[in-house]
Amino acid sequence: MTRPTPSGLLRLPFADASPTQRAVQHPSATPAPAPLSAFAELGLDAALLRAVAEAGYETPSPIQARCIPPLLAGRDLLGLAQTGTGKTAAFALPIIQRLVRNPRQAPPKHCRVLILTPTRELAAQILESFRKYGRHTKLTSAVIFGGVGFQHQIDALKRGVDVLVATPGRLLDLKDRGALRLDGIEVFVLDEADRMLDMGFAPAVRKVVEFIPQKRHTLLFSATMPDTITRLADSLLTNPEKVAVTPVSSTAEKVEQHLCLVNQPDKKHLLLHILQEHPEGLVIIFMKMKHQCNKLADFLIANGHPANAIHGNKSQGARERALAEFKTGKARILVATDIAARGIDVKGVELVVNYELPDEPEAYVHRIGRTARAGASGKAIAFCAPDERANLRDIERTIKQPIPVVAEHPFKIGGKDANRQPTGEAKHPYEQPHKAGTPKVAFNFRQRRNRGR
Ligand code: AMP
Repeated sequence: MTRPTPSGLLRLPFADASPTQRAVQHPSATPAPAPLSAFAELGLDAALLRAVAEAGYETPSPIQARCIPPLLAGRDLLGLAQTGTGKTAAFALPIIQRLVRNPRQAPPKHCRVLILTPTRELAAQILESFRKYGRHTKLTSAVIFGGVGFQHQIDALKRGVDVLVATPGRLLDLKDRGALRLDGIEVFVLDEADRMLDMGFAPAVRKVVEFIPQKRHTLLFSATMPDTITRLADSLLTNPEKVAVTPVSSTAEKVEQHLCLVNQPDKKHLLLHILQEHPEGLVIIFMKMKHQCNKLADFLIANGHPANAIHGNKSQGARERALAEFKTGKARILVATDIAARGIDVKGVELVVNYELPDEPEAYVHRIGRTARAGASGKAIAFCAPDERANLRDIERTIKQPIPVVAEHPFKIGGKDANRQPTGEAKHPYEQPHKAGTPKVAFNFRQRRNRGR
């Protein structure tokens, strides 16, 4: 059995790999009992232990060690955690066990467990997790989200399902159409609650809560805990167990970060240069605007780098295709907006490029968290144009560290920005002085437009 270290922290792969993954005391939580180490010791049944072993998990992550026992005991739970901590298994495993131990056929058009989540990608991933962990049980599950036809989802609900994962809007649509009833719900999970409210789902969440039974088992997970979430948690949860993993700002610690000071028009050339220096591995490029994602993906393709754009205006089919091509490496570059990329959990993302710095500093942390998943390490490169310096300052304040500047790169900025001292010892390939002359770029945006495309 794994023993607590003298510091009280467990020696777990997750904890060792990254400070981000360390379970910490929730600000208002009661002192934690000594965390358990192995899945078997958490009280999980054989069918789940088998599935977990087949998934390749050896040790529970801290959030799993802290959540599973109280959830098996039927406690409500308030989890301060983001994706990447293993939180899906932290709630899915005990939920599956409770369903299996209390077998009951869900009536037609009903579900026993409802998981509300803000995005389609996250919903699909949670369903996948439930299927993975529940593969040696007979539980049924379904997912519903917007942007696709209704009929398939209506059919899936007809006979009733044990576990339903849904985005709020489509859930209410299906309820209004009489395809789904919410009065038999035993367990209600609100996932990524902060993002849900940011995306304007508060009225939909309130409505869903109106329809589900008051006597239920409720779990709420959020990456941040602003007052709105505290109030929501107070209204939904009864005497919850409170579990937190270290705040969002420390995600940054396990990612190798670099900053390139560059003028806006040079960013695309710098990107090509960086891609040449990183010829393998999956790359996610973050932008703010949906249409800019399309333009940049076109530019990359025109320059011989297979890429896809993924954002809210893409059809569900296009998003799924883009993700599939990304996962298999057929198009190893994904150009994404923050919301579209939220919750994308793809192993092997080696590089995240912040092509534009986000306005919300926390988005930077979520972005770079797309690499360095499940204990792996990763690299993140941020481009900062002169008019983005305020965003940079906010980000560095949030992560409580300066991002090391790449001292030499082909598109290095002149003027006062050049005086910013490089920080850290980081040396990397494109710190070489650039060969004279303009870099060779097949097309730029203007040229492509002129060709009528
Ligand atoms: P999540 O935070 O639920 O999105 O999970 C992040 C990633 O960690 C997923 O790829 C999971 O498959 C993986 N994972 C979850 N629990 C464990 C574990 N105990 N050991 C190793 N990997 C895990």
